[in-house]
Amino acid sequence: MKLNILVLPGDGIGTEVTREAVRVLRRVAEKYGHELSLAEGLLGGIAIHRTGSPIPEETARLAAEADATLLGAVGLPEFDNAPPSQRPERGLLGIRKVLGVFANLRPVRAYETLLDSSPLKNERVRGTDMIIVRELTGGIYYGTPRGIEGSGPEERAVNTMAYTRAEIERIARMAFELARQRRRKLSSVDKSNVLECSQLWRRVVAGLSAEYPDVELEHVLVDNCAMQLVLNPTRFDVVLTENMFGDILSDEGAVLAGSIGMLPSASIGPKRPSGAWVGLYEPVHGSAPDIAGQDRANPFGAIGSVAAMLEYSFGLKEEAAAVQRAMDAVLASGRVTADLKPKGAPCSTSEAGSAVCEAI
Ligand code: NAD
Repeated sequence: MKLNILVLPGDGIGTEVTREAVRVLRRVAEKYGHELSLAEGLLGGIAIHRTGSPIPEETARLAAEADATLLGAVGLPEFDNAPPSQRPERGLLGIRKVLGVFANLRPVRAYETLLDSSPLKNERVRGTDMIIVRELTGGIYYGTPRGIEGSGPEERAVNTMAYTRAEIERIARMAFELARQRRRKLSSVDKSNVLECSQLWRRVVAGLSAEYPDVELEHVLVDNCAMQLVLNPTRFDVVLTENMFGDILSDEGAVLAGSIGMLPSASIGPKRPSGAWVGLYEPVHGSAPDIAGQDRANPFGAIGSVAAMLEYSFGLKEEAAAVQRAMDAVLASGRVTADLKPKGAPCSTSEAGSAVCEAI
């Protein structure tokens, strides 16, 4: 198979972890006989430095042409006080928009060898294996009217949460289909006791469940979900939720795995005529200026994002499983970076990447 991939290393440790993720991609292509066609583009702070824009037109063009995009992370401290339109993070919103991705998938797994790194007791977190499906293009982050008006005690801020039936159906179908490939349990999260948006959400998801009788559906209020995620995370398989709730819950899910450096993510868009999902794959973490340039960042979030890309955009389940197994083996061997607090001397980013390539 020909794998047409755009690589956007971005800033800080983004470039370091992406380098290892690309090595893993090359190893998979070599082992399974796929042809890799890689293009590289600019996004974020480096793009501002080189072109003046956090998402240059060339990057948008390359992304539209690629089958899938692998992103490191963006963000440079020198832009911390720049206006929003001139910040590296604007590149993230831009690339999501170019690709039209509407679902953010965040797998959360508790690795046996990392249980001690989790802030939760081992017996609580052991066996956790869920995927959080967050709607990415609607809800309160985008709704209008929005803004701040007036002054003095009457100064007033407004945001609007809005969802259409079509937006809810689109993401809910994706979640039902994912649940079918897993343990067939879907937890739809809302705040239907207070919000009209959530009432429509619940009605639409419940209506769709008739088409997926093999998937067990439950509705969970978001406040209860936040609690259950730490009390009983193993009860979840696929968690479906709207944009803002998903933003918050997925970061809560992130701590279960022990280190933010472990977490992959996939932002998925419409299906191509070939049947493959358009996808943007990136680790959950940022550019970590505090450790950038030191070759000590954990590359597993980026490498896990490659596994997600192989599975969702290319349908290469065996290859994705091989990457996952290799990561498991390396974790068990203790050849891991400092954030995972290994018993022996910690590995560098590149050593951890080499270990995964060898295990594949
Ligand atoms: P961060 O995720 O970059 O770092 C938070 C902490 O986690 C830091 O102590 C860092 O050293 C550690 N860390 C993160 N990834 C790690 C890894 N792979 N291995 C080991 N340790 C790791 O978040 P931040 O410090 O709040 O943000 C830094 C910059 O990144 C900011 O400019 C922010 O806007 C940007 N950011 C970008 C993205 C993205 O590109 N998707 C996401 C979050 C933050």
